[in-house]
Amino acid sequence: MHEEILAFANFQFEVLETTMKVIVGEGVRDETRYKLNWPQFVDRLRDAGLNVNPDDRPFFSRYQMPRPDDQFFRQFLGFQDEIKGLLATISERRAIPLATWEAVFREAERVGEVVVPYPPVKKDITEQDLGRLAFQKSITAESYRALLYGQLRGLIINRRIFRLRKCLECGTFFLDDTRRGNKRYCSAATCANRAKQRAFLLRNLNRRAKAAANQGRLAFPEVVSGHGAGG
Ligand SMILES: [Zn+2]
Repeated sequence: MHEEILAFANFQFEVLETTMKVIVGEGVRDETRYKLNWPQFVDRLRDAGLNVNPDDRPFFSRYQMPRPDDQFFRQFLGFQDEIKGLLATISERRAIPLATWEAVFREAERVGEVVVPYPPVKKDITEQDLGRLAFQKSITAESYRALLYGQLRGLIINRRIFRLRKCLECGTFFLDDTRRGNKRYCSAATCANRAKQRAFLLRNLNRRAKAAANQGRLAFPEVVSGHGAGG
């Protein structure tokens, strides 16, 4: 099971417009709704070797509303940049900057559940009312930060944090579970293969360019030496 922090950092957020059939009175009407591209993105993550359940989508319940909240969306992308920056630094430097270390332990302390009663309570609650209420766990943008930092703390505690890698080809973050810990691409089938093919093409091009250059060079000394021999 991969960490949600990886799914969140790798996710390329997009809001898709979709049409939905809505029953209005006697008829059916098309209505525009918005949704995130998570189901589409899950396949991409799977290609990258990350085992993600489509239901384990990163926190974005507020985009599931008929109209996504622009400000919230921007805020969220900003938060994603922050997390990506942390992961990139740790995977590239193979070190946890002190400030990050402190932030991880400070933020992770704040992991807390927010419980929201449904329907909203607007009057005194009797025993009967209480029986009718449902309680839903809710995560706010702030507690989501704590949750992800908590996962980073978990990676530190179980000493897997330095298994964090950023794919050299596509930039996907992943945990290297190989014994030797020298995995550089998220997936052998896609990224490692693509990089290999490119290296092969490049080598071929270089070889041809060198051959062409050598021919040019060989032709030139022949003329010179021919000239020299004659003189
Ligand atoms: Zn990759």
